[in-house]
Amino acid sequence: MRKVRYAIIGAGTVGLTALDIIKEQTDDYVLIQLGEWGTTCARVGCMPSKAMIHAANHFFHAKGAGAVGVKGVAGLTIDHAAVMQRVRRFRDRFVKGINAGTVETLPADKVILGAAHFVAPHRLEVNGELIEAERIIIGTGSRPVVPATWREKLGKRLLTSDTVFELETLPRRVAVVGLGVIGLELGQALSRLGVDVIGFEASDTLSGLRYPEASAKLVECMSSEFAIYLNQSVDVDVDAHCAKVRRGDAIFEVDAVLVTMGRTPNIDQLGLENLNVALNDLGMPPFNPETMQVADLPVFIAGDASGYRPILHEAGDEGKIAALNAVGFPHVQSIPRKTPLGISFIEPGAAYFGDRFDALDPAKIEVAAFDLHCNNGRAIVMDQDHGLLCLFADSASGQLLGGELVMPQAEHLAHLLAWCVQQRMTVAQILQMPFYHPVLEEAVASVLKQLNAKLKTDGVS
Ligand SMILES: Cc1cc2nc3c(=O)[nH]c(=O)nc-3n(C[C@H](O)[C@H](O)[C@H](O)COP(=O)(O)OP(=O)(O)OC[C@H]3O[C@@H](n4cnc5c(N)ncnc54)[C@H](O)[C@@H]3O)c2cc1C
Repeated sequence: MRKVRYAIIGAGTVGLTALDIIKEQTDDYVLIQLGEWGTTCARVGCMPSKAMIHAANHFFHAKGAGAVGVKGVAGLTIDHAAVMQRVRRFRDRFVKGINAGTVETLPADKVILGAAHFVAPHRLEVNGELIEAERIIIGTGSRPVVPATWREKLGKRLLTSDTVFELETLPRRVAVVGLGVIGLELGQALSRLGVDVIGFEASDTLSGLRYPEASAKLVECMSSEFAIYLNQSVDVDVDAHCAKVRRGDAIFEVDAVLVTMGRTPNIDQLGLENLNVALNDLGMPPFNPETMQVADLPVFIAGDASGYRPILHEAGDEGKIAALNAVGFPHVQSIPRKTPLGISFIEPGAAYFGDRFDALDPAKIEVAAFDLHCNNGRAIVMDQDHGLLCLFADSASGQLLGGELVMPQAEHLAHLLAWCVQQRMTVAQILQMPFYHPVLEEAVASVLKQLNAKLKTDGVS
């Protein structure tokens, strides 16, 4: 049996972040990786999706340039094969960069290719080989959820985020099932690239927004670009000519179905039952999100595998916390988590930061919402005055707690506001800072002023 001090399972963002820290301590480790190198982010996630969105937005805005007086836009077309080649060129560049900086520099005996699973709390099996590790980091990521029957029925008409970037060219008609962040980003991109997109979502909200007015505004904005059906689950079928999406009595014929119904942590094949701790209904062991430690074991779970905050910068942070605590074990430190921040790279952008609205006690907060329409000069001249900003503050202290933005440049404004939340700034303090003119930040000032007035009337004196 091979014995090591550290075993890292998964060479994604978690695993590679943890590896950097552990390599500084010792060469007594193994990195176990199943499947392709290069991380989900670079291969099939953040980066290829943003390359596709970039192309789609270029085409969309070029076609709309007639509104500002540009001539000759009516005949513009887009070469889908060239778009997808460019997406893969960037993807390959990012993957190559990651591999060159990490895996390709590792000695061969430090890397094991295969699926790891626990046979005991300290013991893993990979390809029949037993590995005893004093400390173990689980960074196995997640995968798209696709009902088994859909996979069977749809066959080659099924698309997921794992396969969509491989398309040589684009289907004429696509149904996107599931309009969370990934579905909405890819759905809008496909639509802007000229694909006939129909979106389906089982809940009443898009992109995971939780403040009802923000969610309604996003539905309004997105529906102006492609058909969106909410509040009902759908089923799928195929015949010789097309795929069919059934929603109640209605049937929609398409050429492919992009299934973006969420992602599930890759923990089901890990043998976690052999850790001898109680697993929840989803098979997840108890873990502390400030230490990433599983129960009181020398085992740490991080990134999408934990399902706690399945986004990239959190995977990096969690990989670091897990590695520092694996190194320090049995002295495990709580490392406070950063202010939550989530962004959908759509237009208008959608973002949340800080506490989620539905987790707050309505009796203890003040809420202000500001409609961008006709109220922000810069948004109006850009012809992008569609959106809503909602902020939540603590009634007693006046501290900004969180918010949701549906507006152009939401990605940047949500960052600034998340930083204010993390600095525990009050609404009044944020208003003391400069706001230039004419900028979208003035919309933030407007909603802050509304919130401040409510706080003065009802809350802080
Ligand atoms: C389409 C898409 C767009 C996204 N866009 C964004 C974005 O814009 N911004 C953002 O913040 N986040 C985005 N994300 C999410 C982000 O990509 C993930 O949160 C992040 O990559 C997760 O990193 P990780 O290290 O947890 O997992 P991964 O990078 O997936 O690494 C896990 C690795 O473990 C391997 N593995 C699995 N099981 C085993 C096993 N038993 N043994 C050994 N190895 C195993 C896997 O094959 C994989 O290589 C996006 C995701 C998708 C799919």
